[in-house]
Amino acid sequence: MEEQLNTAPCGYLVIDPANCIIEMNETLKNLIGATEPLTHMHDLLTVASRVYFQTYFTPSINTHGKVDEMYLTLKSATGRIPVLMNAAERNGRYECVLLAMTVRQEYENELLQAKRQAEKINQETAEAYDRLQELMKEVEGKKREVEKLNIQLQGLTVTDPLTGLKNRRYLDDKLLHLIEESSKTGSPLAVLVVDIDHFKHVNDTYGHLTGDVVLQELAWKLQAELTEQDIAARMGGEEFVIVLPNTDKIDAWHKAEQIRETVERGSWKHVKITISIGVAVYEAGDDSSSLFAKADRALYHSKNSGRNLVTASWQ
Ligand code: GH3
Ligand code: MG
Ligand code: MG
Repeated sequence: MEEQLNTAPCGYLVIDPANCIIEMNETLKNLIGATEPLTHMHDLLTVASRVYFQTYFTPSINTHGKVDEMYLTLKSATGRIPVLMNAAERNGRYECVLLAMTVRQEYENELLQAKRQAEKINQETAEAYDRLQELMKEVEGKKREVEKLNIQLQGLTVTDPLTGLKNRRYLDDKLLHLIEESSKTGSPLAVLVVDIDHFKHVNDTYGHLTGDVVLQELAWKLQAELTEQDIAARMGGEEFVIVLPNTDKIDAWHKAEQIRETVERGSWKHVKITISIGVAVYEAGDDSSSLFAKADRALYHSKNSGRNLVTASWQ
């Protein structure tokens, strides 16, 4: 073999049609670290490459007279060496050139690993995103629950537990707004202070529990007399307040008289009661305490005049 071919920077190999090795250059021998002469192509190849060689090389070279870029793996003293082989038929022999592919294969392996890593990260990112979506849904759900509870809580803080009417806290707040509105627009506003007559006697005679039922019954009766815009509240004990927006003196008086009469004539579960009422209307310069003070004075007058009466502050 010519020196130039013998030491060329690629492997060179000549085999016969039975795949027996006729010639092999030094470069190829050094590549595989051959210490003794190799006789057959099979001695060069890994098992997998041997199968591939048998099924592909002979039919291809017989048909086309050459084989291009066949990817094979050689056995070597130190491991496996991937090579790319080109072969051509010349005078009944096959001349093969083999180019070591180790660097390229390592590079391809790195690329493959990087690709798998990227796919894994993509997958993890997608999973993390899904989890985030789930968590956001959970947070939304919890937020709605809290909002619902807040509404319930708000309802409880403005409701009198015994009668279900609004409580003093609600009424004070509401009245502040209504007075402000009346002072701006001049719309009439009336307040009725309602107090049960001789309620102590009801408790003393029938017991506190019966007294509670009477308070509830009165609350229902008061509520039944009102429209949507009106507000009935229990201020404490056996004292109630009714606020009538857009209601002038005449209508307020009639409403108070109607309520008093309903209570007097109504049917009661355990014991009949009567109520006394003081009526006042908003006048320029009034705040809620001056408005209440007028209504309270009127109520005091009803009590002093024999009870079961309506008194208006302007009378
Ligand atoms: P008047 O006609 O002057 O208003 O007499 P009264 O007996 O109704 O008034 P008084 O202020 O002397 O008594 C009010 C009573 O109301 C005393 C108290 O025991 C009772 N009371 C206050 N809160 C409750 C309650 O929540 N339940 C019951 N059953 N009784 C209550
Ligand atoms: Mg009373
Ligand atoms: Mg009282």
